[in-house]
Amino acid sequence: MSETLAPVRPGKLIINGEAVDAASGRRFETRNPATGELIVEVAEAGIEDVDRAVKAARAAFDSGPWSRMRPAERARLLWRLGDLVLEHADEIARLETMDNGKPIFESRQIDVGMVAGCFHYFSGWATKLAGETTAVNPAQFTYTLREPVGVVAAIVPWNFPMIMVGWKAAPALAAGNTIVVKPASETPLTAIRIGELALEAGLPPGVFNVVPGRGSVAGEALVRHPDVDKISFTGSTEVGRHLMKIASDGVKKLTLELGGKSPNIVFSDADLDAALRGATTGIFYGKGEVCAAGSRLLVERAIYDEFVARLAERSKKLVPADPMDPKTRLGALVSEKQVQTVLGYVETGVQEGARLVAGGQRAPVNGKGTFVQATVLADVDNRMRVAQEEIFGPVLAVIPFDGEADAVAKANDVLYGLASGVWTNDVKKAHRVARALKAGTVWINMYNFYDPGMPFGGVKGSGFGRDLGSASLLEYTQVKSVWVNLE
Ligand code: NAP
Ligand code: MG
Repeated sequence: MSETLAPVRPGKLIINGEAVDAASGRRFETRNPATGELIVEVAEAGIEDVDRAVKAARAAFDSGPWSRMRPAERARLLWRLGDLVLEHADEIARLETMDNGKPIFESRQIDVGMVAGCFHYFSGWATKLAGETTAVNPAQFTYTLREPVGVVAAIVPWNFPMIMVGWKAAPALAAGNTIVVKPASETPLTAIRIGELALEAGLPPGVFNVVPGRGSVAGEALVRHPDVDKISFTGSTEVGRHLMKIASDGVKKLTLELGGKSPNIVFSDADLDAALRGATTGIFYGKGEVCAAGSRLLVERAIYDEFVARLAERSKKLVPADPMDPKTRLGALVSEKQVQTVLGYVETGVQEGARLVAGGQRAPVNGKGTFVQATVLADVDNRMRVAQEEIFGPVLAVIPFDGEADAVAKANDVLYGLASGVWTNDVKKAHRVARALKAGTVWINMYNFYDPGMPFGGVKGSGFGRDLGSASLLEYTQVKSVWVNLE
């Protein structure tokens, strides 16, 4: 346990197997949003550093040991990395909570296990990726090779800083690619730590690089780099659109995981106690800074008044507290900017005619920090801004509906299509609605569950491509067709 008390070391870039400073010597601060205190300074990658990282990744892919290594050996190293993440679980969880403001309960009990789980799960795939022989013509032998794409640029956001590294690095590396990770400026620390552990695990130099720095500088240089073959992005729709244009210039493969405004639908025949728990964790888990947050709660009219009353009561009991306290379930938002955005939306909702039934205020802990109360806006109309736009904070919009067709119509009437929830004890209705929802994920009588083996991603404005599961491996590979003339 003593490792958890070690001081946080200044963050460095991980390039070509070494932890280094930026060529310019520049550094940036990363702060703890729960206290406003400086945690540590981090090396700030510029264009030159990104170029070095990509060249190292290119060399490790083209001529280095990674792509020539036996898949079983790659698997062994990735499994070892998963083990190292678990061995340093306390330290990594503490870094994440300091940097992001999320409760240590989430970082320690959920996020670290997911990261390790990704390296363990995908290590198993390294030996199982295969092409196929095809039946084309008896005079020919035809087969396909499933090959890695090359150098992958992973650009990740601040809400799940370490999980996003696991989601992207594990399948990319298992398939034989090399990677350059650009963490979010708000939360660079755990990506750097995982990069260090990758070296400790024995991944060869250049295979796993990390370049913290500004999106507009380091991120931009990374995605524009001609030696990058594939971009995997999770973040805002606005930046995603921009990256799509850049990817088109270089004709690069692209995966986009963007925002969401996910409907969580409660039918009157549901187990209402379970639905109530699912509705609250659906929005307040991760402070609502969760792309898949169940931020639109659709409740059938027959139970609407009672459900809203119980929801308000339950939400008021969820009080923001010190994220480092293991009992805390609602932490600090990532930044002051995020607080302003979230409170602005609460005001907008009330002006639009929504009824504020819980929260709505800042709630400093020990007189400071970026804490916002668990907030519920009832009587929301699906056309209101608070029903259509992603708030990315602990604010739930509750919308009444009348019957199955109305629920599906309202659920789908939004730009996004990331996740969704259905609460009912009618098995036929559950599956009918699951088919009708335009979303990448449907949870039935559960919400916010993830596993390395289940694909995750969006449709419509939420993007395309998948993280996790075998589907994500294919995103990091390409197919080569080989024809052999037998005559
Ligand atoms: P963001 O502003 O889009 O930033 C995401 C990442 O992109 C950061 O690392 C950022 O760097 C970088 N970036 C910004 N501008 C760039 C550019 N011009 N070129 C290359 N990289 C650039 O999003 P965010 O505010 O950090 O995250 C919140 C958003 O992410 C929400 O909308 C949420 O829904 C979405 N999200 C989606 C999923 C999903 O799986 N679909 C998961 C989590 C979050 P800086 O930090 O330096 O700006
Ligand atoms: Mg920070």
